[in-house]
Amino acid sequence: MSYVDEVLAKVQAKNASEPEFLQAVEEVLESIKPVVEANEDLYRKEAILERITEPDRQFKFRVAWVDDSGQAQVNTGYRVQFNNAIGPYKGGLRLHPSVYIGIIKFLGFEQIFKNSLTGLPIGGGKGGSDFDPKGKSDREIMAFCQSFMTELAKHIGADIDVPAGDIGTGAREIGYMFGQYKRIKTTYEGVLTGKGLSFGGSLARTEATGYGLLYITEEMIKCHGQDMAGKICAVSGSGNVAIYAIQKAHQLGAKVVTCSDSTGWIYDPEGIDVELLKEVKEVKRARLTDYAAARPGAEYHEGRGVWSVKCDIALPCATQNELQIEDAKTLAANGVTAVCEGANMPTTLEATRYLQDNGVLFIPGKAANAGGVATSALEMSQNSEHLSWTFEEVDAQLKRIMVDIYHHIDDAAKRYDKEGDYVAGANIAGFEKVADAMLAQGVC
Ligand code: NDP
Repeated sequence: MSYVDEVLAKVQAKNASEPEFLQAVEEVLESIKPVVEANEDLYRKEAILERITEPDRQFKFRVAWVDDSGQAQVNTGYRVQFNNAIGPYKGGLRLHPSVYIGIIKFLGFEQIFKNSLTGLPIGGGKGGSDFDPKGKSDREIMAFCQSFMTELAKHIGADIDVPAGDIGTGAREIGYMFGQYKRIKTTYEGVLTGKGLSFGGSLARTEATGYGLLYITEEMIKCHGQDMAGKICAVSGSGNVAIYAIQKAHQLGAKVVTCSDSTGWIYDPEGIDVELLKEVKEVKRARLTDYAAARPGAEYHEGRGVWSVKCDIALPCATQNELQIEDAKTLAANGVTAVCEGANMPTTLEATRYLQDNGVLFIPGKAANAGGVATSALEMSQNSEHLSWTFEEVDAQLKRIMVDIYHHIDDAAKRYDKEGDYVAGANIAGFEKVADAMLAQGVC
């Protein structure tokens, strides 16, 4: 049995109740096989794969808070510090009822390679809670965030572990958490990223994941002799990543005709109206039915369906496993040329393989959505310098980083005779740097 298969079997036996984590590990280990085979004796002796698939440590804690009726509520909080071989742990906090340790481990594992790909000194971590922010008052959100941070503060720090936003954790939640950290520690440090601009946040961080997704997509299709101008795009989601992906796609001359949320989706043949979408989702925090009501030419449909729309480029920006095998077949039959993941692992393994086998250009989330964490690292740099850079400076660095990531993953794929396989390229390029650092630092 190869070393990869041996470790995969061990990870499967040990984490059988965590399908999302197993899916992420399987994808990474399968695609780094050529690198591992070239260094099999050394990696096996140093247990590199056993160590990289086992978090450095993980915290699980009670989050008790009081709702507006005076009733005490209890949620579970998590932080997984997965790997800090190349820098302090860095990764977002997800607040969603589906959160359990398996989701946090999958996200933390992916984060190791994503952070490595940015070329910046950041390790992999992730956290969150099964708390559902939907329908909660601002006071309830604050009560939850303060309680959550009271425990989390024991484990994080500007040079230890620097959390950020993710699903359900936006600027409001980061603000409440930062306030509580400061109150507990009496120290003003860049312990969280995605902060408000008046207290250490970076310009362009809000836009970074969506903009970065479009910068890498543009670079890839340029290198394949195409242009974004005139392309029809399908986007899923209507949160932070989706909104700014749509905005940048329009700036580049493409037309985005769909978006979605957890209850339904919009088809807007004239192109999504980003300002209206922001008003509905960021200001009113309402459903997409409000978008359709304000936009006569747009159709609202209940349930899933974004991928049934004919498009040139598909950008899944909502959540994991939202693009499944039937969707992949429909997209390919409709002539899609590229699928680039704004969300983390939105495409199932089966769908990914189908798209790649059918000649669709595919960039996995760990490369395509790395602009968010890269800009978070730029926020950390600004905080430690006690300086703020302009929007244009940050955006220019983001663009350079995304273009570099594309060439980095393209080169890695070519080096291992997998030209055009950006899943392999991203995993290989991300892994090589972390593995080198782990080897240099000894068994720990
Ligand atoms: P938001 O909470 O801002 O938006 C999430 C969007 O996805 C919403 O439209 C939400 O719908 C929808 N959604 C969430 N869960 C489901 C579900 N189970 N089924 C269908 N739709 C769902 O999150 P972000 O935009 O920040 O994150 C989106 C994805 O991008 C996640 O996978 C995240 O991990 C990833 N990501 C985010 C980064 C960032 O900088 N924000 C960085 C890198 C990756 P509704 O409005 O109904 O809740």
